[in-house]
Amino acid sequence: MSDNTVSPEPHRDLVGLDRAGLAEEMAAFGAEPFRARQLWHWIYHRGATDFAAMTNLAKGFRERLAARYRLGRPEVSRALASIDGTRKWLIRFADGQEVETVHIPEADRGTLCVSSQVGCTLNCSFCHTGTQRLVRNLGAAEIVGQIMVARDALGEWPSPPTDRQLTNIVLMGMGEPLYNYENVAAALKIVMDPEGLAVSRRKITLSTAGVVPMLSRVGAELGVNLAVSLHAVSDELRDELVPLNRKYPLRELLDACRSYPGSSNARRITFEYVMLKGVNDSPAEAKELVRLLRGIPAKVNLIPFNPWPGAPYECSTATAIAAFSDIVFAAGYSAPIRTPRGRDILAACGQLKSQSVRLRRTVSAPLPAA
Ligand code: SAH
Repeated sequence: MSDNTVSPEPHRDLVGLDRAGLAEEMAAFGAEPFRARQLWHWIYHRGATDFAAMTNLAKGFRERLAARYRLGRPEVSRALASIDGTRKWLIRFADGQEVETVHIPEADRGTLCVSSQVGCTLNCSFCHTGTQRLVRNLGAAEIVGQIMVARDALGEWPSPPTDRQLTNIVLMGMGEPLYNYENVAAALKIVMDPEGLAVSRRKITLSTAGVVPMLSRVGAELGVNLAVSLHAVSDELRDELVPLNRKYPLRELLDACRSYPGSSNARRITFEYVMLKGVNDSPAEAKELVRLLRGIPAKVNLIPFNPWPGAPYECSTATAIAAFSDIVFAAGYSAPIRTPRGRDILAACGQLKSQSVRLRRTVSAPLPAA
């Protein structure tokens, strides 16, 4: 038996390091500072997965890099495509854990729904992920990796300046992004860098169940759009649907939304509201919703409940959803109706079943429904 095999030092992943981290790593590696900039360009603008492709770096330097580092891509364990163009990738990380990433193409944009954790701690009673326990947080590289994998599949390297299929990102997949803030923030800073993936903060939406103390940081440090999973208009019901409400009740949540940095009529906060039959879908609740949102630049996303085996709820009837939507509409919201997406490849992403109702407080006459 050979006893002289030394297990090699694992190759360090350069994906997931921010600009400063990459510069530091290269300095420690003995490379000149501009090498870090060249690498950044290859990794995030060109999408390189192999040092050998980096043709403006000397061959010897490429070989040294390859001996010490890797450019990690998570593995796609399954790829599904819906008849409506929605695509879903089941992404497997090095330890075998998996999350879902979904691309939803529309006429004027293409949205990627990204996960932030494997499992979740929140236990929302209507959410399938809530029935699983938290396995672990995703690292920054794993969050960025979901976007890199989608870009690979969509053939979008180098980062196209216009006409992209992947224009928007929503953190609406598995997990609570604000319970993994440091990694989410590090990932988003990489994603927003104009010399790389270059997705503007205006095209990124972070969805939270309402981790109130984190909201001002998200606004100030990241400046991305905010979506809040509201789902109920009384603390009593919200305590049950979104148990996080017991810690951060409605009033505190809405106050934090009211002072969310950067929100304006042009950049509204999205309030997600899952339609549960006989639970939260009455006309009185629609009126209360409108009252609660007063003074907040808001739009409402009514999400038909997506059932799962053993779920204790049913989706509201089309009539109830329409009546709810009409009340919100009559209060100054316009209502472009979106058809559910990707139903045939069922996914956890809230964006897949959205019907949005936009608040237009500045418009005196409601716009006709689309
Ligand atoms: N933890 C974050 C993001 C993940 S959930 C949050 O709570 O916002 C993304 C969205 O999908 C949330 O609005 C969530 O409430 C919604 N959702 C979860 N399960 C659903 C289901 N079965 N049907 C419809 N929407 C669901």
